[in-house]
Formats: sequence, C-alpha cells, structure tokens
Amino acid sequence: MKMTDMIHEPAGQVPVVSRADVVVVGGGPAGFSAAVSAARAGASVTLVERYPYLGGLASGGMVLVLDDMVNGTEVTVRGICDEMIGRMAKHGLAVVPPPEAIGNDPAMHRKWSRWGVFDFHTHYKPHPICYSVAFDPDGWKRISDEMVLEAGLELRLHSWFSRTIVEDGRATGVVVETKEGRQAIMGGMVIDTTGDLDVAASAGAAFIEGAYMVTTVFRLGGVDTDEAERFQFEEPERFQAIDREAKRLIGGSWDYWWLKTPLPGIVWCNCPHMTGYDGMKVADLTRAEFEGRRRIHRMVDYIRANLPGFAKCYVVDVAPQTGVRQTRLLEGEYVVTKEDINQRVHFADSIARGRDYYTPYRAILPRNVENLLVAGRHYSATSAAQKMSREIPPCMAMGEAAGLAATMALSSGVKLRDLDVAELQKRLRAQGADPGDRPSANAKILEATA
Ligand SMILES: Cc1cc2nc3c(=O)[nH]c(=O)nc-3n(C[C@H](O)[C@H](O)[C@H](O)COP(=O)(O)OP(=O)(O)OC[C@H]3O[C@@H](n4cnc5c(N)ncnc54)[C@H](O)[C@@H]3O)c2cc1C
Repeated sequence: MKMTDMIHEPAGQVPVVSRADVVVVGGGPAGFSAAVSAARAGASVTLVERYPYLGGLASGGMVLVLDDMVNGTEVTVRGICDEMIGRMAKHGLAVVPPPEAIGNDPAMHRKWSRWGVFDFHTHYKPHPICYSVAFDPDGWKRISDEMVLEAGLELRLHSWFSRTIVEDGRATGVVVETKEGRQAIMGGMVIDTTGDLDVAASAGAAFIEGAYMVTTVFRLGGVDTDEAERFQFEEPERFQAIDREAKRLIGGSWDYWWLKTPLPGIVWCNCPHMTGYDGMKVADLTRAEFEGRRRIHRMVDYIRANLPGFAKCYVVDVAPQTGVRQTRLLEGEYVVTKEDINQRVHFADSIARGRDYYTPYRAILPRNVENLLVAGRHYSATSAAQKMSREIPPCMAMGEAAGLAATMALSSGVKLRDLDVAELQKRLRAQGADPGDRPSANAKILEATA
C-alpha cells in the first residue's frame, strides 16, 4: 500500500457532550494541575484524557521520581505539586528524604541513593542527596481521583482527542473519538496538555519537531533490596562487573538503572533507553514496545542468575504508556533556549519554575491562535532546552499557571495575550504556588520585574 493512498471521509454531525469555561486536553501532570487550578478558581472545567486514569507519564509511564524542584536549599516548585506529594506521603505512597539526609554524607548516600533522590544536575560525584520524591504510580492515580472529585470538575476518560474546533482564529472546542463515536466538547478557553501538542498543532499553531530517546520503563518484584544495596557498597568490584553486563544487555540506561519504590521488594527500572524512534509514529511506537520488552526479558534472565538480591525477581509490569520524552514543541510568543536555562535567566513574566530556571508566560502562549494555552513538556522551548526542563514538577507548575490564566482571562474578558501577568503571579502565590516572580540570588536578570 502506498502512503499516498487516500479515502474520502463523509462529513457528519457530532453531538456536543459537554460545554465548559475551560477545556483541558490531556490528564498528565500538567493537565491535571491545569484542570484543578481552573476549577478551584471558579471555572467550570472539562478534563479529557485518552486513557482510563490520570497521571500521564507519572502513572501510566511509571516515571516514579519527582525531581528538578530545588535551587540549593530553596524548594522552587510548590502549589498543587506540593499538595500531591503531601497527600501521597500520608498514605505511605511517597517517600521523601529527611532534612538530615540532604548533602554529601557517604552514609546518607548509601541509605538514600537507591531511592533516586539525588541531584543529577551537579557534576559532583557521587551526586548529593536532595529534596525529591519517590512515589507509587497507583498512589498518583488515587490522589488525582480524589482531587478532581473535590474540585468538582467534569472528567471524561477514554476520550481520544481528534481535532480542534477553530472559529475566527479562536479555539472553541475539541472533537474526541470514543466508543460512542465522535463527540464535541466546547469551551471558552482550551488548554493543550497532551505532551505532543496535539491540540495546538491541529489548531494551526506554529511548532517545531523535536526528538529524544524513548524508554519502555518497567518494574521488578521479588527484589531483596537490602542484599542488592549491601552487594553494591560492600563488594564494589564484583558489583560493577555484573552491573556493567546488565546494562550492556538492556542497551541504554542511566548509571542507576533500578531504584526503590514505596512498595517493598518492587523496584522501577528507567530503561531501556532507545534512540531512532519517533514518538508520533504508530510504526515506530509499535517497534519500540517490542524492542523494549525483548531487551527487558534478556536482562532479567541475566540478573536472576547473577546479581545478588535479584535471584527471585520477576517482571511486575512494563509501563502501559511508552516513555516518550519529546515530540512537537510549540513555537510560542517566546522560545526558551538552552542558554536561558543554563544561565538561569529570569523573565519578568515568569509564571513557573524548575530547579533554578524560570518559565515565562509567553512560552505557554501560541502566536497565532486565540483562546488557547499549552502547558507541560511540549511548551515553547528549543529541543535542547526542553531536554533540561521537562520534569514532572515544572510541568505541574506550568499547568497550574495555565489553568488560572485561562480562568482569569475569561472572567475579566481580556484576551490571553493581554492578561495582567503581575496579577496572575500574585494569585498564583496566594494559592501556594511559586511563579518565579521573585528571582533567586543566582538568577540572571535581563528585564525589570513588572
Ligand atoms: C522514561 C522517562 C523518564 C523520565 N524521568 C523523569 C524523572 O525521573 N522525574 C521527572 O520529574 N520527570 C521525568 N520524566 C519527564 C516527565 O515524565 C514528563 O516530562 C512529564 O510527565 C510531562 O508531563 P505532561 O503532563 O506535560 O505530559 P504527559 O505526562 O505526557 O501527559 C500527557 C497526557 O495527555 C494525554 N494525551 C495525549 N494525547 C492525547 C490525546 N490525543 N487525547 C487525549 N489525551 C491525550 C496522555 O495520555 C497523558 O495523560 C521522564 C520521562 C520519561 C519518558
């Protein structure tokens, strides 16, 4: 079959199943935060998600460490992210290193590093323990269910975004594919949090095509983590030889390929990393799943036979969602660069932060479509900048800001591009978030704060 073969689709009518002030498409960390933030600010909200749960890569992708939220000792991502951590921790579903563990103490490194709570942005080795959080994916689902119910928003799972409805240059709703057929969801404002810029691209917003490695994350059960840690720290030479072979078999991983989780004996494995796959292409995603699972089983056979602590291990699950890090990126009113991130450039219109960098409001604002914001990993950044600024906490901070911005624009009747950003910053602070309006001492100031 030639790829140019085409069929004609009959035009038809699509029932409107929901109308809301704010429609959020994509229930990952950014979309969940946007929807809760908008609903708490008084908007009626419909949140659309293709899968049967919320969390995106944080739950379905089984990305199980929240990091990138400290600048020295200052915690830079707060708000809804903080609330999620606190609520999961209350149920024992999130583990946070205590203040005395933070830093370079070798004893603390031995105790805490296998939780993945270290600062991998420093060149210092071993990486110091820092404030970050190991959590359980079903814990995330549980708490997000609770929070969307409390916020009183309409959640529509099992709904695949299909196209954006654009009238006179304004996004006015979306069409989704469901088991019941196509459905339309209309909104005063639309927020794209699909991670792949599906909504903004369909609306005609400018974007670039980024790419990065993909990973089929998995979890192992039946691991004796005490024995595995003892072996690593007390028999380093033997450990390194076996660990090196395990990594060769998986074919692409960070230095620590397994990390502890809040569930005893269950570890998450952020590997195999694989390059050359396009996260937007069905054929590539299908091949990546097969290749990932093949490598996983190859390595597991080896570690069961060779790695102390893993003799009785088994594969609990391979993440239901492929670990796609980067695809389309918005070309918005401002495009964040690698230099902005590295130099900690402070923007007067900062509305979110990561560890020590700032995200301007202009980077969630498309250039040529009205009533549309984006938030999350597809925000307006160069490919290199996004690789350094796409972790879950900063995506949540962006989502929280986008939800409030959309609600404020609707209630004040101004265009998103004319929004009073100083007021947005003030209101974000009032709800417990840190929009980055007050630059830290190590920021590079280029513009005067409003
Ligand atoms: C393997 C891997 C390891 C990582 N490690 C870390 C880490 O250790 N710590 C960390 O903080 N971050 C890590 N990250 C980055 C982080 O997970 C993501 O950048 C973050 O989850 C992005 O959040 P998001 O809400 O923008 O997008 P996503 O998490 O991708 O959420 C997008 C949501 O939109 C939904 N969606 C997409 N398309 C449609 C559609 N057409 N219709 C309806 N719904 C749709 C998806 O199902 C999903 O729920 C990692 C990422 C990967 C892939």
